[in-house]
Amino acid sequence: MNEPKNSSILFHEHAIKEVVAKIGLQITTDYKGRSLVVLGVLKGSFVFLADLIRHIDLDIETEFIQLASYDGAKSSGKVTLNAPLKTDLRNHHVIIVEDIIDTGTTLDYLLAMLKGKGPASVRVCAFLSKPSVHKNRYTIDYQGFEIANEFVVGYGLDYRGRYRNCRHVYQIKV
Ligand code: 5GP
Ligand code: MG
Repeated sequence: MNEPKNSSILFHEHAIKEVVAKIGLQITTDYKGRSLVVLGVLKGSFVFLADLIRHIDLDIETEFIQLASYDGAKSSGKVTLNAPLKTDLRNHHVIIVEDIIDTGTTLDYLLAMLKGKGPASVRVCAFLSKPSVHKNRYTIDYQGFEIANEFVVGYGLDYRGRYRNCRHVYQIKV
């Protein structure tokens, strides 16, 4: 099996499946009768998003935006917009779907950008979160797991473009 070197499993695919289904059900309940746009942040969120939206039993729209802030295994502190959002969000409820909230730099950028687009509401859904790094500055409305200040890969998360296709989440030493 394709496993990262010098790694250990942090979250097994069974645990991931369970938590993703739970979030999907919660979103289904919370957004019944509302116009919802699920906004995935590429690339890291694409695996999580693909599983999550199939647990949202509503007539939703799915959109993507591409942002990058990581350089290898470290945050660069700068956010680059690679693929902008073209959809009109006015009067739509938006859920931002992120792979992981680390320093929060990406989320700050995104929240500021969305404000100008006049959505009805904005909530945040993150598969993983590092509260010791972002110091709980955010309300993460829907969250998979909290982790320590460590570097993880798998289930969409990469190290230099690799390991996105791993089924489990691994902690790796880089
Ligand atoms: P932030 O802007 O919150 O510091 O970082 C957000 C982005 O950095 C995430 O969307 C993700 O792409 C990347 N990132 C942060 N921590 C990790 C990690 O532990 N592993 C991987 N693979 N990417 C991470
Ligand atoms: Mg990302």
